[in-house]
Amino acid sequence: MRIGIGYDIHRLVEGRPMMIGGIEVPYFKGTLGHSDGDPLLHAVCDAILGALGTGDIGTFFPDSDPGYKGISSRTLLSKVVEIMEERSMGVSNLDAVVIAEGPRIAPHRADIISSLAKMLKISPDRINVKGKTAEGMGPAGEGRAIEAHAAVLLSKMNNSAREDGEDV
Ligand code: MG
Repeated sequence: MRIGIGYDIHRLVEGRPMMIGGIEVPYFKGTLGHSDGDPLLHAVCDAILGALGTGDIGTFFPDSDPGYKGISSRTLLSKVVEIMEERSMGVSNLDAVVIAEGPRIAPHRADIISSLAKMLKISPDRINVKGKTAEGMGPAGEGRAIEAHAAVLLSKMNNSAREDGEDV
C-alpha cells in the first residue's frame, strides 16, 4: 500500500464556472486556472501521483504548455488514473477537505463523491469529502480563493476491492 497527499488553491473570479470535484456548482464566482481550475481534482491528482512517487501534476501537465489551456481537470485525472493503473495500483480510499467561504459543499457532496467515484473507478463509500470555511481569514476566508486537500491510500489492484467484487 502507498499513501499520498495533495493540496491546491485557485483564485475565484466572476465569469468562470465553479468547478469542484469534476462538477460545476452554481455560484456567482468560479475557479480561475490554466485548466478549468478544479482544486479538488488537482489535489486528488497530486495525492495519487505522490503515492506513486512520480512527482506532481505540474510534471505531467505543465501550465507552460498551451495544449493544456482550458482543459477539463477530469481529463487530467483520467490520465493520472491511467498512470496509476499502468503500475497495477488502485485507490483504496480517498479523504478530502474543500475550504471555501462559499458555495456550501454539503448540498453538493453526494454529486461530488459520485463524480469522483466514477473517475477513480471505485465505490462511493470509499470516498469522503468535507467542506470547511476559513472563518473569514485568509484568501479562502475572504472569498478570494478555494482550497482543497486530499489524502489517498493506494493498493495493488489484486489486493483492492476490484477483486472482491465491490467495485464495478
Ligand atoms: Mg491547480
